[in-house]
Amino acid sequence: MSGAGAYEVVQVATLGEDFDARLAARFRVLPLWQCAEPLEALAQHAGASRVAVTSVRAGLSRRQIELMPALQAACSWGVGYETLDVDAAAQRGVLISNTPDVLDDCVADLAWALLLAVARQTAVGDRYVKEGQWRSIGAFPLSTRVSGKKLGILGMGRIGAAIARRGAGFDMEIGYNNRHARPDSPYRYVASLAELAQWADFLVVACPGGAATRHLVDADVLRALGPRGILVNIARGTVVDEAALEAALRAGELGGAGLDVLEHEPAVPEAFKNMDQVALMPHVGSATRETRAGMTQLVFDNVVSFFEHGILLTPVAPARGGA
Ligand code: NAP
Repeated sequence: MSGAGAYEVVQVATLGEDFDARLAARFRVLPLWQCAEPLEALAQHAGASRVAVTSVRAGLSRRQIELMPALQAACSWGVGYETLDVDAAAQRGVLISNTPDVLDDCVADLAWALLLAVARQTAVGDRYVKEGQWRSIGAFPLSTRVSGKKLGILGMGRIGAAIARRGAGFDMEIGYNNRHARPDSPYRYVASLAELAQWADFLVVACPGGAATRHLVDADVLRALGPRGILVNIARGTVVDEAALEAALRAGELGGAGLDVLEHEPAVPEAFKNMDQVALMPHVGSATRETRAGMTQLVFDNVVSFFEHGILLTPVAPARGGA
């Protein structure tokens, strides 16, 4: 490390060898994740750092922001930003960028993979064939039709809209719940989530995580979705009351669940492992080579844009106050 105040960028988390090398080739970077005492390193070396690079996994705390007195922008990897202290950033006038749009298609694809996995039992069928039960037992149990059904979406944003577009290909009726109806949306707006769940055959969760959406999908919503209903969650585990979900599945009050995210991930409720009506993925909605490359490129472009033009390409919210 060179002297105090020398670093232009504080990199809180690694975003992969290629990104790290490109960033270090262009800027003077303090690699915080390599520091044994990160807060100490910030206090000693981040006095002049104008930009922080982080991720939704690593986040950015109020304390970290306080220790970067010259900080003007935080460029984060991931579209969710509930782990960054946006209030602390806004109070200091620190702008935040995320990586929207580039991951919509892959996350929507995975929502459909999970819905089809639960409804058509594809993971179970795969085991059935590979373990020889096709030969020993014979016909596979009947599953649930997907095409032509009613699809409810909690969170008709960028990813929700991509999920809905795919639903048209399955000849589905589509409804959604947001806090506000979208005048530009061709789909049915349902102001109450429980009513949407009552109407829908399948409910896909695609809203942001964080305190404001914690347990929006509760026992009442699951009961409304019903014994033939299927819940898919590609948003955040915290949006679904997992204890209520387990209880509803055990009681047969809900037909099934496809989950890319869990409330206490990577901890997996033991019961889910033994339920054929539950399909699980390890939080990989955006995890394709193509999309991950697009996300890291967008972080890089935001950093460069801020240094060259003083603007972020994909800011999440205007900063209030500060310089
Ligand atoms: P977005 O464009 O901001 O859309 C979010 C939507 O949720 C908006 O339409 C918003 O509408 C709605 N919403 C927000 N709060 C709500 C509430 N309390 N009740 C009902 N609706 C609410 O976000 P996005 O880019 O589609 O991303 C959505 C989320 O997907 C991210 O925040 C992230 O958590 C998750 N995600 C997961 C993965 C994965 O790997 N599984 C990958 C990427 C993203 P209103 O403002 O009108 O309420």
